[in-house]
Amino acid sequence: KNPLYAVYGASGYGREVMPLLRAQLQAQKIDSSRLIFIDDNPETDAINGHSIFKFDDFMQIEASERFVTLAIANSIIREKLEKRCQENNIQFLDVAASNVCVMDNVNIGEGSILSPFSSLTSNVQIGRQFHANIYSYVAHDCIIGDYVTFAPGVKLNGNIIVEDHAYIGTGAVIKQGKPGEPIVIGHGAVIGMGAVVTKSIPPGVTVIGNPAKPLIRLT
Ligand code: UDP
Repeated sequence: KNPLYAVYGASGYGREVMPLLRAQLQAQKIDSSRLIFIDDNPETDAINGHSIFKFDDFMQIEASERFVTLAIANSIIREKLEKRCQENNIQFLDVAASNVCVMDNVNIGEGSILSPFSSLTSNVQIGRQFHANIYSYVAHDCIIGDYVTFAPGVKLNGNIIVEDHAYIGTGAVIKQGKPGEPIVIGHGAVIGMGAVVTKSIPPGVTVIGNPAKPLIRLT
């Protein structure tokens, strides 16, 4: 058997995820020479000691099984690349830093990345291809959909629902909801850096500030 492992995306987040996956594989005595980057628009052949291949070239490498982690923050791209991987019988790898804290009754879908110092407390449900960037937390009784992305330092307090494709910016704080009366961050909503969210946010809306308000673009 000669499985092949890849981090998809050789840009900023991919380079942050690579050492986490390398540590995971080393703990299982898997040779890191079988760990590469995939990037469809590579700027060089290799970075930080790992070769970069375009997807089609990755598929040409001899391998018994292929495993990929989608380390691209843009959730629409993640969904598209997930489909491409599925069509090519590629399996997804979950990545978690060694110091991540996961408490009781946490269910998390395929392909998640939990960056260093992130925490998922108890009774948390999370969908597919979730990204928790460094120092983010999810408190009790939160339900998170598919392709949700947390930038660094996101604070998601208890009883919050985050719908698919929502993006939560660096250092944003979401107020705790109540049992049966959660705060809901709508499908594809964007929460700006440092926002303090005190109420539900409708689908597709971008909010900023404290208290967070819809962003109105001046033309
Ligand atoms: N990318 C890719 N295939 C795609 C779309 C993007 O390989 O279909 C790569 C792109 O070439 C870039 C990376 O994904 O290297 C995204 O990097 P970016 O700096 O935009 O974001 P981040 O690293 O923060 O997710």
